[in-house]
Amino acid sequence: MKVLISGASVAGPVLAYWLDRYGFETTVVERTPALRHGLGGHAVDLFGQATDVVQQMGLWDEVKAARTMIDDLTIERSGGRPVHVDLGRLYAGISDRHVEILRGELIRILSSATTSEYLFGDSITALTDDGAGVDVTFERNAPRRFDLVIGADGMHSNVRRLAFGPEEPVRRHLGGYLAVYSMPDLFPLGSSMLIHQSVDRLVGLYSVRQTGQSRAMFMVRTEAELEYDYRDKDQQKALLATAFRDYGWRVPQLFEHLEAADDFYFDAIAQITLDTWQRGRIGLVGDAGYCPAPAVGGGTSLAVATAYILAGELAANGPAGLRTYEAKVRQMVDRSRKIGPKVMGSIIPRGPATLRLLPLATSVVPKLPRPIQRFIWSQNAVGKALGSTALPDYSALLSPRSPADPGR
Ligand SMILES: Cc1cc2nc3c(=O)[nH]c(=O)nc-3n(C[C@H](O)[C@H](O)[C@H](O)COP(=O)(O)OP(=O)(O)OC[C@H]3O[C@@H](n4cnc5c(N)ncnc54)[C@H](O)[C@@H]3O)c2cc1C
Repeated sequence: MKVLISGASVAGPVLAYWLDRYGFETTVVERTPALRHGLGGHAVDLFGQATDVVQQMGLWDEVKAARTMIDDLTIERSGGRPVHVDLGRLYAGISDRHVEILRGELIRILSSATTSEYLFGDSITALTDDGAGVDVTFERNAPRRFDLVIGADGMHSNVRRLAFGPEEPVRRHLGGYLAVYSMPDLFPLGSSMLIHQSVDRLVGLYSVRQTGQSRAMFMVRTEAELEYDYRDKDQQKALLATAFRDYGWRVPQLFEHLEAADDFYFDAIAQITLDTWQRGRIGLVGDAGYCPAPAVGGGTSLAVATAYILAGELAANGPAGLRTYEAKVRQMVDRSRKIGPKVMGSIIPRGPATLRLLPLATSVVPKLPRPIQRFIWSQNAVGKALGSTALPDYSALLSPRSPADPGR
């Protein structure tokens, strides 16, 4: 079977890898002119099941070697003493397996394991599903026909727009905005991350060991959605500057590098709430189908685990696997949707009481005995979604590797 995957970030390469291993023929179309690999972009987390998938792909050692090595967190806030948090112990309470890695590094490692055909600098313009296959037209490449088309093209998915309808009705604004950019390492932090919280706003800073630069992160709570042009970075930088104009702390120094930032990211902290991820021979995976909200929802682990399940279900059931995949991942998706609102409520304090108490709670939990930490997390949406549930085993469906394939 020939499968077209739109998007070569996290879900796309994981899906392509496993489909290749089950004997499918895969093509990946990616809008950017080359892989988004490298050291730009933000740090993401792999928990529990997602680390199992990476391990089964033979990539665990590479992923671990590339980890950010940020091991502790200092939380500062106006009018309070700084609080220190051991991140290793905090994450260990949530899941016994966790790694933090730059998304670009993860993409490089995942995609290097695939044997797919890649079409860079292109995008799908139309999809016609006639029940026996899907005719696809592209912006640049000639039209082609595939047995299945999967959208792994992120929160603002093109495949979702073409096959399932516009984004607006299925986007749930969680009441905030997120901005990230790279800048010189003005305040070298080594293996620490620094967060400064105030009511309705947060600023974060960490050093990127591989680049010698640092990354500044801003979150702001705004109940209403902002009106802006998603292509106009200057307009978005101005919105950020206005939101933090009176913040103080180290923000004036961080803003000296805002204008020059060429990897500036700005987007709503929002979820995709579509309730079906398959239509005929077209499906969605990862953020494209059920983005649990950038930075606060554990989207990377969800993308990895669900892409593995989608590939397995297609291998087991052919095109009908789109339906069995949907049934198998639904609970995981439902649980993930509960994470974002919870995390938003805690990391961007709503009032002076949260601002005072939350950093203390965050610092105390990792110091408790491990079984008590586990109990606390098991009662919480984050722990429930990211905790370790066993993944289905599809190993009986693997195609034999050719002698030329070194395997992993
Ligand atoms: C600032 C920020 C911080 C984050 N922090 C964390 C974190 O700490 N932990 C965590 O787990 N997650 C985090 N996330 C979320 C995480 O990045 C996503 O959940 C994860 O990358 C989802 O992977 P994906 O492959 O589904 O989609 P994406 O990574 O969004 O990839 C989509 C891919 O599709 C491509 N594409 C888009 N449109 C088209 C098109 N028309 N045609 C072809 N290709 C297209 C894109 O170029 C991209 O390569 C963060 C996200 C952001 C933005």
